[in-house]
Amino acid sequence: MTQQAPPQLELACSQCGRNFAQSDLVQIAGSWVCAECKPAFLSRVMASGPGGASPLAWRYGGVWIRFGARFVDGLIFIIPVAIFIAILIPNLVRAQRQAGGAPTVPPVFIGLAFITFFLVMLVVQGCYEVLMLKYRSATLGKMACGLKVVRADGRELGWGVCFGRFLMWNVVTSGIPYLNSILILISAIVAGVDPEKRALHDRVCSTRVIYKQGVA
Ligand SMILES: [Zn+2]
Repeated sequence: MTQQAPPQLELACSQCGRNFAQSDLVQIAGSWVCAECKPAFLSRVMASGPGGASPLAWRYGGVWIRFGARFVDGLIFIIPVAIFIAILIPNLVRAQRQAGGAPTVPPVFIGLAFITFFLVMLVVQGCYEVLMLKYRSATLGKMACGLKVVRADGRELGWGVCFGRFLMWNVVTSGIPYLNSILILISAIVAGVDPEKRALHDRVCSTRVIYKQGVA
C-alpha cells in the first residue's frame, strides 16, 4: 500500500498565473512555466535571439547610473549654452556702453528673449531625446553609460513612446520649478525600490532602461 505523496509546494506559472505543483512546472531562464505555456514561452525566448532582447536576459539600469547618464546629457547641453551666454553678455554690455549708458534694450524684450530662449532649448532638447531614442534607443549620455531604453516586451520605442517619455521626464517630472525637486526624488525612490528599476516616466510609458549587455 503506497500512500499518496504529501501535496507538493504549489507554484504559479509565470506566464498564465495558474497554480501548479512544482513537479508540473519547468524552470526556464529563472521563470517557472507550465506545460501549456512552455512552447510559446520557449519560442519567445528563442525569437529574442542572442541580442538580449528578452526580458529574461535584462540587467536594469539603476538610479545612479541613470543619474550619470542624465548628467552627461546635461553637460552636452550646458556647454554650448554657456559659450553662447559668455559671448552674448559682454556684447550686450558693450552695446549699452556705446549707447552712452542709456538702456538700449527695453526690459520687455529681455524677458521675451529669455522665454524664447527657454522654449527653443526645450524644443532642441525634445528633438535630441526623441530622435536619439527612436533611432539609437539611447541618448548620448545613456550610450556613454552603456544603457538603452526599450519597451516592456523588448521592442524598440515608437515615436509616441519616445515623445511621451520626453514629456513625462522633461516637462512633468523635472520641468516644473520647485515641484521638480520633489518629483525627481519620488521618481528616484520609486525606481530604486522597483525590481525593474522603473522611474515614474517608465511606468507611464511602459519602458525599461537596461544595460546594452544583458546578463551572460
Ligand atoms: Zn502557464
